[in-house]
Amino acid sequence: MARTSPNIIVTGTPGVGKTTHCEVLAERTGLRHLSVNQIVKDRECHEGWDEEYQSWIVDEDKLLDSIEEEVKQGGCIIDWHACDLFPRSWIDLVVVLRTDSTMLYDRLTARKYPEAKLQENLDSEIMEVLLQEARDAYDEEIVVELMSNSSDEVDGNVDRIEAWLRQWRQDNAPAT
Ligand code: ADP
Repeated sequence: MARTSPNIIVTGTPGVGKTTHCEVLAERTGLRHLSVNQIVKDRECHEGWDEEYQSWIVDEDKLLDSIEEEVKQGGCIIDWHACDLFPRSWIDLVVVLRTDSTMLYDRLTARKYPEAKLQENLDSEIMEVLLQEARDAYDEEIVVELMSNSSDEVDGNVDRIEAWLRQWRQDNAPAT
């Protein structure tokens, strides 16, 4: 059955502002914010805790099984630092957030990230790893790169996504 509301992935290196964007977007659009971090923890879609990286070792099959029904109905904003595990047929828009590395350093330091994890994430942002992953996994027309250095940029990005959503709803309105 066709979705009456689209599914959006908001992805990017940890600290770029995914949660910040998703919360504002969910409030303004009524779409549901699916925080994959939270789901992995709450629904135990993991194979244990990685001490060095201070994060869960995600069981991707279990995660996908757990969210499949909800996502297939549409209207989800998926908030996760990876995107290529989600089937292409589920996804209508992929937003990749980007941040300057000095700013990201400050945000991750404030979060008290362990040194190895901090460095790995900074390298990943500089090397555009998530952007490339998104471009490899989805059609280029649905992948959008947006800057997230300031709160003005959050507002501007949310405005853009809202405009996209209005257009999607017009284009996919059921025939009367
Ligand atoms: P993520 O979900 O990608 O890990 P968060 O949304 O949790 O990132 O943001 C990490 C930190 O950076 C938070 O303290 C948040 O307030 C701040 N932040 C995120 N995006 C911006 C932005 N565009 N401008 C200013 N601060 C931001």
